[in-house]
Amino acid sequence: MTSSHNPVMQTYARLPVAFVRGEGAYIWDQEGRRYLDALSGIAVNTLGHAHPKLVQALSHQVGQLIHTSNLYEVPLQTALAQRLVELSGMTNVFFCNSGLEANEAALKLARKHGYNKGLPAAKTIVFEGAFHGRSIATLSATANAKVHKGFAPLVEGFVRLPLNQIDQVRQAVSQDPSITAIFLESIQGEGGIQPAHLDFLRQLRALCDEYDVLLMLDEVQCGIGRTGKWFAHQWADIKPDVMPLAKGLGSGVPIGAVVAHGKAASLFEPGNHGTTFGGNPLAMQAGLTTLQAIEEEGLLQNATDRGEQILGRLRARLDGTKGLREIRGKGLMIGIELEAPCADLVKTALAKGLLINVTADRVVRLLPPLIIDAQQADVIADMVSDLIIDFQAK
Ligand SMILES: *Cc1c(COP(=O)(O)O)cnc(C)c1O
Repeated sequence: MTSSHNPVMQTYARLPVAFVRGEGAYIWDQEGRRYLDALSGIAVNTLGHAHPKLVQALSHQVGQLIHTSNLYEVPLQTALAQRLVELSGMTNVFFCNSGLEANEAALKLARKHGYNKGLPAAKTIVFEGAFHGRSIATLSATANAKVHKGFAPLVEGFVRLPLNQIDQVRQAVSQDPSITAIFLESIQGEGGIQPAHLDFLRQLRALCDEYDVLLMLDEVQCGIGRTGKWFAHQWADIKPDVMPLAKGLGSGVPIGAVVAHGKAASLFEPGNHGTTFGGNPLAMQAGLTTLQAIEEEGLLQNATDRGEQILGRLRARLDGTKGLREIRGKGLMIGIELEAPCADLVKTALAKGLLINVTADRVVRLLPPLIIDAQQADVIADMVSDLIIDFQAK
């Protein structure tokens, strides 16, 4: 089949490689070439590829039940919700199938909160650099003009502000009582590994308490152990009212969840929200097994240790490299920002047997699986350093 006749819609400019098998942090293509995976399918394969505990648990689950329906009790939903509330200190969970769906649920909660306050048109504050998904509502919440283009009219009710500028947020919230939620990624992923500063998160928490506004933290990419804590906002020692999760929660099985606390936890009443597939036994088993393996194998500590190792080695190797703007990150969520667009680095890395990504045009993004060992971490740091040094020498 020639690519011009590929019946798959051309929504991605795909790299010319197809993978057939994986094991741990490695993945093999159709020609039998091996690659070191420093991307995890964009923060999805938390446990790497073909983790024995996940293979065993999912094989067993497929032999029992894949899907029933939310018309019936699903005990595995209760079990996974129980784990998520224990780990987050929050109280209730709604399960869905992806990040944008978790964010849609969050945005509906923000509107319902406004409705209960008697507001006919509730607004949500969102931020520059944000990415929240590709549905009509979540693309409207997203900051990127390329994501908006062609899909007007956008959904109304968003107020966009710069990240980490508490005075502007305070001014907006204090002057506009129709604002019922503040929605942001604890660490922006697609936006280029840009963190919400810890004091900014704490100030948002206080502001939301003062004005009865929901603090909604999109942890779709930065949650589930990626930064060395279960959830990235826990570095700020705060609790959100609403937390969408997805990517890393199922180690590759599609899953989404929105975790809620306080008033937000009881906003949805029967009939307000739903999903056919969400929370099916297969996805729940994937979530439970992922969380269990993270705990049993000390993967939070591993994310912290391997992250510091990679950051330290990148900084040592790249110190003084011209065209380098900043190396930043937390745990195994790492960005290397260059002064010039560098999307070509993805192909150069692929040719050398390394999977990486470039986001926001000029940020090399590393999201390796949480199971990588010290030797693999060194290889990633060295290969990426060499790629960047060569690229800048051109
Ligand atoms: C990937 C991502 C989404 C969208 O998730 P999908 O599963 O692709 O719908 C939303 N928010 C953040 C922060 C993401 O990284």
